[in-house]
This record gives sequence, structure tokens and C-alpha cells, in this order.
Amino acid sequence: EVVFLSGITGFIAQHIAKQLLESGQFKVIGSVRSEEKALILANNFGNNPDLSFVYVKDISDKNAFDESFEKYGSSFDYVIHTASPVTFEVADIQKDLITPAHQGSAGIFKAAVASCFKLKHFVITSSFAAIVDQATKNDPNTVYDETSWNPSSLEEGLSSEFNGYRYSKKIAEKTVWDLSKKLNTKFGITAVNPVFVFGPQCFDSAAKGKLNTSCEFIRDVVNSKLGDELSGMNGAAIDVRDVAKAHIMPLLESQKFNGKRLLLSDVRFDSQIFADILNDVPELKGKISIGNPNKNVNNFDNNAKIVNEETKKLLGFKFISLKKSVTDTAAQIIRAQNSF
Ligand code: NDP
Repeated sequence: EVVFLSGITGFIAQHIAKQLLESGQFKVIGSVRSEEKALILANNFGNNPDLSFVYVKDISDKNAFDESFEKYGSSFDYVIHTASPVTFEVADIQKDLITPAHQGSAGIFKAAVASCFKLKHFVITSSFAAIVDQATKNDPNTVYDETSWNPSSLEEGLSSEFNGYRYSKKIAEKTVWDLSKKLNTKFGITAVNPVFVFGPQCFDSAAKGKLNTSCEFIRDVVNSKLGDELSGMNGAAIDVRDVAKAHIMPLLESQKFNGKRLLLSDVRFDSQIFADILNDVPELKGKISIGNPNKNVNNFDNNAKIVNEETKKLLGFKFISLKKSVTDTAAQIIRAQNSF
């Protein structure tokens, strides 16, 4: 069976491709922006004959996917749409964050409807950003679950890079659900909504320098010096290998996952918890920031609660622990830095 995977160069998408290929059940066609990136990836995957690439230059273009879908779409059994900008360093919030996320999901969904005659399931990588409400995220009486939606307006989205990213994810996911109703589609649809995703890059060679946005939070602590102050960064965490798995299960059980939003969240973290975990890594102990280990940082009672029992029941597997996720990420950074 054939899976089209948009944004295959991404941190999460590479793990999805790896798991799909390892299963032996799927051929993967991934979209890339440049030939150079395709060559690196093909090489990393050992020039696997079940992996091929198409060029989709910029998903802001509303016809970005048309050519490849007209050519190959009739062979696609599944589409997984992960491509979307994940950065908080942008010159223009609308142009660099919101438009590509919005047009990207509208463009690929419409292309799928027009050309993928045997499509069984469409998965969109959404985010907890499409769920969380800035006004209530620090309200201990608020509960977010699979039915919650970020209520922010475009105007709020344009007010800062963080709000812009959150709005971009909300509008990208909403577009898919709205289009599926409007076009009365018959294939299954699942949104995957992870909190912050951590864990090793799919290949060590990708861990030498700057990492993807979420893993940079761990690299910051790995590269900190004893005595440095920690950023105070906090949120909820999930491991990339579990996120990849959650994208693939809906392909295997389309009916069960149809119409579902998978809220992927394990535990809360902050930069102190990262420092505590990383100070147990022998290569880092005594060299990196210890922060303030006596501070009562493990108390997240003042945050809104994330309740994802439905997701956990649907998936039925145990999430990789934060400790393993963070130590695997750090071990890879150390390996990659030492391999120069
Ligand atoms: P990455 O930055 O590693 O991957 C993003 C992917 O999107 C890359 O393949 C990138 O291509 C592609 N892309 C971005 N902008 C464009 C564009 N304008 N045109 C074409 N392709 C584009 O991020 P992640 O793997 O972390 O994120 C993947 C998905 O997961 C995103 O949808 C993100 O919102 C979502 N997500 C991520 C979380 C996290 O903590 N990491 C949490 C929740 C959701 P290129 O390599 O060429 O730049």
C-alpha cells in the first residue's frame, strides 16, 4: 500500500517514514522542497526502493500539491500531512506561519479529493496548539481534552509569533474538518495533536547542529554551563517515536480512528526537570546547569489539566517516559558532537 507523506524532511515525519518502511507493509512517497534534501534522506534510508520523493516547493501556493497528485495520486492509499512551519523566528506572521499552514492543509486535502480515487485515510499532524486556549491555560479548573479547540481569532494570531503558530495550527486542522464536511468525503480522517515533541532525530547525522524547534529546548540545557540560569521553559511532553506510531495506527484501523483527534500528551515538564534528568547523564554531570534542584518545580497544580483518556484507550500502548525521551535526545547530541 502507498502512503504519501508531506514534509518528509521533518523531525516527526522522518520517524513516521522509518516506522512505515520498517513495517514492510508500505511504500512511502515523501514531499521535499529540494533535491539536496531528498538525496540526503534517500542515503540515510539506505536507498530503500520503497521510498521515493516528489518536489513540493512551497505549501503556501494553493496548487502546490496538484502536479504530484495528478501524476501519482491514483496510487495513494493513504495521505499523511505533516508539513507546516514550526518556528517562532519569522519576519511576517501571516506569510511565514499562517498562510503555509492554512493553504498547505487546504491544498493537500483538495488535491487528495480530486485525484486519490482509492484513498482510505487522511491523517493531519495538528497540535496541542489547536486545542489550548491562552486565556485558560493557567487556570487549574480548566480541562482540555480531545474536544477542546483554541478559540483564537486571526487578529490574536497576528499579535505575536507564538500566537501566530497556535493560530496556524488551529486553522490548518479546522480547514480539514470543514472541507471534509463541505465535500462530503468518504475516506477516514484523523488529526494527531501532540504537545511538545521530544526524542532523538531519526538519524544521528541530523543532530550535529541546530535541531528542530522543540528539541532545541533540550539542546539548550545540554549545552548550558554550570551556574547558568535555566530558561524556565515549560509545557507538556510526548516522545517522537510514540507520535509517529499514532500517525500509523489510523491507517491500519481506519474505521476505529475515523473522525478522531488524538491528543498526545504524557507528562508536564519544565527546564528544571530537563536539568535534573540531564545531570544524571555521566558525560554531562558537573558540566551543565543544575538550576535550582530544591525548588518545588514538580508542582504543576496551577496549570490547566490535560485529559486524554480517550486517546490512550484508542492507542492502547504505553508512552515512552520523559526520562528516556530526554536522555535519548541528549545521548544522540553527545554522539553527534563527538563524531566531528
Ligand atoms: P520540522 O520543522 O522538523 O518539520 C517541518 C516540515 O514542514 C519540514 O519537512 C519542512 O520542510 C516542512 N515545511 C515547513 N514549511 C514549509 C513550506 N512553506 N513549504 C513546504 N514545506 C514546508 O518540524 P516537526 O517535525 O517538529 O513538525 C512536524 C509537524 O508536527 C508540524 O505540522 C508541526 O506543527 C507539528 N507539531 C510539532 C510539535 C513539536 O513539538 N515538534 C508539536 C505539535 C505539533 P523543510 O525541511 O524543507 O524545511
